[in-house]
Amino acid sequence: MRAVLLGTGSPPPNPTRRGPATLLSLGDARFLVDAGSGVGAQLVQAGVRPWDWPRVFITHHHSDHTIDLGHLLISRWIAGQNAPFEIWGPAGTHTQVAKLLDYLSWDIEVRRSHMHDRRPPDVRVTEIEEGKILDTGAVRVSAFLVEHDPVKPAFGFRFDGGGRSVVVSGDTRPCENLVRWSHRVDCLIHECCEMSKTPWYPGCGWPSLEEKVKDLSSYHTQPADIGRVARAAGTKKLVITHLMPGSVPAELAAAAGRDFAGAVAVGEDLAEV
Ligand SMILES: [Zn+2]
Ligand SMILES: [Zn+2]
Repeated sequence: MRAVLLGTGSPPPNPTRRGPATLLSLGDARFLVDAGSGVGAQLVQAGVRPWDWPRVFITHHHSDHTIDLGHLLISRWIAGQNAPFEIWGPAGTHTQVAKLLDYLSWDIEVRRSHMHDRRPPDVRVTEIEEGKILDTGAVRVSAFLVEHDPVKPAFGFRFDGGGRSVVVSGDTRPCENLVRWSHRVDCLIHECCEMSKTPWYPGCGWPSLEEKVKDLSSYHTQPADIGRVARAAGTKKLVITHLMPGSVPAELAAAAGRDFAGAVAVGEDLAEV
């Protein structure tokens, strides 16, 4: 089971980190977790051309995790792929995808008008609940609930296959349920959205920087806590992702290492972990 970090960033645009997206693969079987900004170009960089773009598992509907879903859907179809595009996600995915298809419908019809015998893209949505959601024989995919209130439900995903287990946390504060589902996995890819690096402007919705940091920290995992999560899970390796533009990788690794004795890597785009 290979895991390639396609995007290790967070909502703020960052020239060196695309939005959240991770590619899992075992042989020809591929699984994409989230569709953050730039995911299409990153898939191509990772050697996966649009015709082959795989099923997508959405952790939650925050825009930084879904913003390029439309790009994946339409580019794959333009390339000639007529097999259904599978989108797996939390309750609400049907509605969100219907709105996305509505938005794309003008473009789809204009393109079809000068194609020959081309049906519109076929999209297959599966709304998930906690537990095993897919078993290809070689790979088992499970979803588990994480804590990202007020976003409910929000999921993490676990992939087991080829003698290796990998967990992708999605967005969460430190979460007991994630620790249970990550028990002794080979690789835990976990968010660390360091809110002390967030910018503040008047009119952003919080009266002060302090209040913004306090509020947003309550639903993400901070550097002081990330090592404890990995230690509690007993994972062999911790990979830190979902970085803010101002985060310093060496500082995050040092923070994690204070509580966790296993291997720590701070994610970089296109790194295999
Ligand atoms: Zn989120
Ligand atoms: Zn996010």
